[in-house]
Amino acid sequence: MSKVIISSLYDSPEFRMACRQFDQAADAINLPEAIRDRAKYPRRCIAVSLPIQRDDGSIALYEGYRVQHSLSTGPSKGGVRFHPELCLGEVAALAVWMSWKCALVGLPYGGAKGGVSVNAAQLSPTELERLSRRYMQELIPFIGPDVDVPAPDMGTNAQIMGWMMDTYSNHIGHLVPSIVTGKPLSLGGSQGRSEATGAGVAHLVCRYLKDFLKIAPAEATVAIQGFGNVGSEAALALSRNCGAKVIALSDEHGGIYNPRGIDVPRALSYHRYQATLRGFDGAEPISNDELLSLPCTVLIPAAVQRVITPTVAATLRCRLLAEAANGPTTYSADKILETRDDIEVIPDILCNAGGVIVSYFEWLQNRACEYWDRDTVLAKLFTQLDRALEAVEAQRAKYQFSRRLAAQTLGIERVAHAKQARGLFP
Ligand code: GLU
Repeated sequence: MSKVIISSLYDSPEFRMACRQFDQAADAINLPEAIRDRAKYPRRCIAVSLPIQRDDGSIALYEGYRVQHSLSTGPSKGGVRFHPELCLGEVAALAVWMSWKCALVGLPYGGAKGGVSVNAAQLSPTELERLSRRYMQELIPFIGPDVDVPAPDMGTNAQIMGWMMDTYSNHIGHLVPSIVTGKPLSLGGSQGRSEATGAGVAHLVCRYLKDFLKIAPAEATVAIQGFGNVGSEAALALSRNCGAKVIALSDEHGGIYNPRGIDVPRALSYHRYQATLRGFDGAEPISNDELLSLPCTVLIPAAVQRVITPTVAATLRCRLLAEAANGPTTYSADKILETRDDIEVIPDILCNAGGVIVSYFEWLQNRACEYWDRDTVLAKLFTQLDRALEAVEAQRAKYQFSRRLAAQTLGIERVAHAKQARGLFP
């Protein structure tokens, strides 16, 4: 990869963070120098111009990206993010983390990520459809069910995946459901996919509470930052399936707090109609910053990256930090967490892997023309997460690593070994 592209990626704090994490992990496992750059930097960075016609007849131009970090172990896999401040470096960091995540949980995929820098809330539904289709149209030369398989991420959803699949299928001339995952059920989406990330977070939280902290989930209090697909599904699963008490929730407008517990289904329907949690009558308002340092058993950052800064890390009052977001803890904040024996961390690439695991199940079902029921999907999901958890704990015990370093070294080692085994060609 050219020095020009790499240095532009380094403008992003997320990409610098991913590189520092890589260097630390590579040193910890003595990864041979010869493989380091190849395993660290993305294989391909694609940037595209996306002109669309607005409803008023004017033309607007957006910038779209797709970064394919690794293609050595199978197609690359990862979500598509619609966010106004998105840049290529952030997408590249998210693609790097997807590679480690897929490798850690044993999926036959490399990592990728994509997105458009756009405030989707300012587009009408027809403009959103045109933008989504245009994005897919521009990516057609670079993706495919065996090359790179997009999925939903922040700011995108099943409907958008449906439009993307339709655009690709029209180009090929027949239906190709396995080109994207996270589709609507009527288009070959999988049962359990929309709840998969949140349900996976809840499953791991319960396991760590019971097996490592010896706390009954019904005795635990939970604070969750972010009420999108992941945060809301984690809140539902933790309160409904595990009996935990959700005491704080937040979205980009601010948070709500009730030490006696929030009625999550009621907060969810309030949020669906009001598009905010502000004004919910079953709780007091609090800020997003206040939420992060609340006393609670489990804190779940489920929104954007880099919210746990060194200052926040020093003031956390949780027993378990479950990273449902990608990259929520900065590199320097992590150094503080390593010194805090009072906090256990479920690192992002393990904690939120439920989404991509069920995406893999969706891709398998599409390729085999099968439909699995929800119980089968969730049972297989939990088995796969348990296997990854055991691997992380074994790595941690073997090398005395932090849980994050254990997860990252496992992921990075698998990517690097695959590259070494394939050799260099041409
Ligand atoms: N966007 C999700 C993630 O960050 C899911 C990706 C996928 O299903 O491919 O893991």
